[in-house]
Amino acid sequence: MYDLPFFSEEHRLFGQTVRAFVDREVTREHVRHLDEQRLFPHEVFRKVAAQGWFGLGLPEAYGGQPCDAVTLALVHEALARHSLDIAAGFGLCLWGGSKIAAHGTEAQKQEYLPRLARGEARFSVSLSEPGAGSDLAAVRTSARDAGDHYVLDGQKVWASAADVEGNTIVMLVRTEPGSERHRGLSLLLVDRATPGLEFRKMPTLSRRILGTYEIFLTEARVPKSRVLGAPGQGWPMLLEYLDTERLFAAAGYVGNARTVVEDAVAYARQRVQFGRPIGGFQAIQHKLVDMQLRVESARLLVYQAAWLLDRGRPARREASLAKLAASEALAAVAAEGMQVLGGYSQLPEFDMERYFRDSRQTTVSAGTNEIQRNILAREMGL
Ligand SMILES: Cc1cc2nc3c(=O)[nH]c(=O)nc-3n(C[C@H](O)[C@H](O)[C@H](O)COP(=O)(O)OP(=O)(O)OC[C@H]3O[C@@H](n4cnc5c(N)ncnc54)[C@H](O)[C@@H]3O)c2cc1C
Repeated sequence: MYDLPFFSEEHRLFGQTVRAFVDREVTREHVRHLDEQRLFPHEVFRKVAAQGWFGLGLPEAYGGQPCDAVTLALVHEALARHSLDIAAGFGLCLWGGSKIAAHGTEAQKQEYLPRLARGEARFSVSLSEPGAGSDLAAVRTSARDAGDHYVLDGQKVWASAADVEGNTIVMLVRTEPGSERHRGLSLLLVDRATPGLEFRKMPTLSRRILGTYEIFLTEARVPKSRVLGAPGQGWPMLLEYLDTERLFAAAGYVGNARTVVEDAVAYARQRVQFGRPIGGFQAIQHKLVDMQLRVESARLLVYQAAWLLDRGRPARREASLAKLAASEALAAVAAEGMQVLGGYSQLPEFDMERYFRDSRQTTVSAGTNEIQRNILAREMGL
């Protein structure tokens, strides 16, 4: 782990612990197999749970271990070492758990948080719809009031890790009929086994380990006790978490990008052409130096944003900058990594093609980079 001025001694030790765990338990061979077979990482998450890390960031009263944003960024960075999906699956659970901790009823906290802290519960997040991507306020899936429950009809899309045993889907729906845009939206905790839900796994380029799903909802009944916060408060709750969502996604991108650079350097040192390692050619050296520059610059932005959040300071701008820099760093270094590895980059056993495929979704997920630039332009008074 490269040291940064944002880290305390505890951060350093913890970062080393998570990194050693990943090297031992989340090997590249294992994630390569999961990716090839499109299998959910149950075994990996059982091991993460055994470390108690699903409780990170959750209140102690429910079995969690409160911690700061730098610590959570370190976990995301390390878990993404060989696969972005491992960090993303962890991040989805943190997203669900932290929302319940902040806005849930006592009954919801009792029901979900201790199980999550023990690593027995899973969460996924379903906001997007066919007509509501960047423009999430266009969500149309309806939740009709039917006494003690809602009746859901509509279609969601791109719900990563949704059709997984024991999963709860945090779903954005419209609970006020006829409401427009940001009003009348609510977040519901929807059990994945609810009758009336039909899942279709999407044959995506990336995210093959977690899987990402279309969800078709036909008269699905969800108890009103599963509303998160108050009905109609979905939008403000979403806004509240944008900074951390972007920041932790960016930490994962940096973690994976560091592996890309390490792999490309290792390959350049051992691949011999024209009687010497290709790393001896200046064209390759400069490429590798530029890759390292991009990744280390993005990493500084990630931990700067985490450091600010930990001091209660505004970090909207910094979190967006970190998301932009980290996603574009990963996309760029993975593309360059393909070039450094030449023809062998195309083979699964060299892993670069997986990093390259996965990198293609980083500039789209967690708010597209065009939307990040819109946010940053507003911050600049434009
Ligand atoms: C692998 C993967 C996993 C995902 N997982 C999840 C998940 O778990 N849960 C979930 O809810 N969603 C998930 N998503 C969905 C993701 O959040 C959306 O893809 C994203 O919000 C963009 O929406 P869209 O794809 O409909 O693109 P669109 O919004 O249609 O955008 C298309 C293009 O137009 C640009 N654009 C749109 N509006 C503007 C504007 N105002 N200014 C400038 N440019 C603009 C976009 O930046 C983009 O380049 C996932 C997506 C992928 C690819």
